[in-house]
Amino acid sequence: MIEIRHHLGPAKGPRESNRKRILLAVMIRPDAQADIARRTRLSQGTVSKVVRELAGEGVLEADREHDAEGRGRGALVRLAPAYGVAVGVHLGFNHTTVVARRVDQRHDIHPPLRAEGGANRGLRQALPAVERMIRDAVEQTGLRQEHVVSVGIAVPRMVNPRTGGFTGPTLPPWSEGDNPAEELGKRLGIRVVADNDANLGALAEQTYAPGEPIETLVYVKASTGIGAGLIIGGNVVRGHTGAAGEIGHVTMDRNGIVCRCGGRGCLETIIGSDFLLSQVKQAQTGNSVDVPVSLNALVKNAEAGDAVCRRVLQDAGRMLGVAFAQLCNLLNPTRIVLGGQLADGGELVLEPCREALRRYGLRAAVGGESGFDVRSAWLGTVAEAQGALVLGLLSRQGAEEEAEEAS
Ligand SMILES: [Zn+2]
Repeated sequence: MIEIRHHLGPAKGPRESNRKRILLAVMIRPDAQADIARRTRLSQGTVSKVVRELAGEGVLEADREHDAEGRGRGALVRLAPAYGVAVGVHLGFNHTTVVARRVDQRHDIHPPLRAEGGANRGLRQALPAVERMIRDAVEQTGLRQEHVVSVGIAVPRMVNPRTGGFTGPTLPPWSEGDNPAEELGKRLGIRVVADNDANLGALAEQTYAPGEPIETLVYVKASTGIGAGLIIGGNVVRGHTGAAGEIGHVTMDRNGIVCRCGGRGCLETIIGSDFLLSQVKQAQTGNSVDVPVSLNALVKNAEAGDAVCRRVLQDAGRMLGVAFAQLCNLLNPTRIVLGGQLADGGELVLEPCREALRRYGLRAAVGGESGFDVRSAWLGTVAEAQGALVLGLLSRQGAEEEAEEAS
C-alpha cells in the first residue's frame, strides 16, 4: 500500500502541481482520462503523460474492464491501494452526518454515520460529538486517525469565501465569532475547511450523480431552512460575500409573515419545516389525532394517506415550483436537484413543483425541448456530507498553493 500523504506535500513548480491536481481528482472519483482532463482543466496530453508516469510509479492504476460509474469514456483511472482517509461532515440544525472513506475507494463504500442534534445546540456543544463521530467513521475504514488527509464540514450558514468565517448577521444559536473549521481543526490537529451546506450538496450531486456531467446545476436544500447551491460553468458560485443562492429569503408574499431574517413573506416562511408543521397542527386543532412534530413524520403520514399532510406537501411543492421558475428564468440550469428532508416527499412534492415550473418558467428554459429536469437528490440526505468530503480533498491543492505563496 502506498502512503498517499507523501504525494500530497507542497508542490515545487507546475509539473508537481499538475501531478497533485490529477491525484486529487482521482481520489475524489476514479474517471476516464478525458473526464479527468475536463475536471482538472488540464490538457488531455498533460493528463495522459502524468497518468502514465504515476502508473509507472505504482500510484495509479488503469482498469480496462470496469466502468462502474456509468459515464466514463475508456479505461477508468483509479488510485492504487493507499493509506489515506478523507472525511466529510454535515452539521445540520437538528442532525449530524459524517462520512469517511479510504481515498482509493468509491464514495458509497461505507454507510454514513448519523446522529440527532446539530447546530441547534451551538457550536461548542456540538463539536465534541462531531469529533467522536469522525473517530468512529475513520475506524470503520480499517485505517487510523493518522491516515486522515482531509476534512471538510458543511454548515447551515453563509460562509464568506474570502475569510472562511460566517457572513453576518449570524443568527442564533451560533455567533459571529464561531469558526467551525478552525475549532474542529484544533481538536483534530488537521486543517479543516468549511462551506455552506447547500453549496456542498450541489458539489456532491455534480461530482457523483450518474449520467453526463452537468455544467449548470442548482441544488436546493429544503429542511428547517431553505438554501440553494449554484454551480455555473462547473464552478460553485458563492457570490461576493457568500450570500449567493439564499433562495429561502426570496420574497414570495409581500403581506406575508415576518421571517427570521427580518424580511417579510420569504419562501422560508411559506415552506420551511416549522411552517409546514404549524399548518398541520392548525388543521387538526380539536381533533384527537397525532400531529407530526418533524418534517420526516409529516412525510410519513402523507405517504400513509393522511389528507392534511398530503395537501401541505403538495402545496409546498407548488410554491417551490414558483420559486424555481424564477431561478430557471435567471440562470437557465440543466437540472434542479431537490435535497433536504422535503425531498423525502418524492413525487408528492415534485409533481406539483413541475406543474408550477411549466406554468411560470420560460418555455426556452423549462419546456420539454430544453432538456431541463427537476428531481430529488441522487445522494439523498448524505449529499452535503459527501460534498464536504470533496471540498476537503480539493482544498489540499489550495493549501499547497498558499504555502508556496508564503515561502
Ligand atoms: Zn427571510
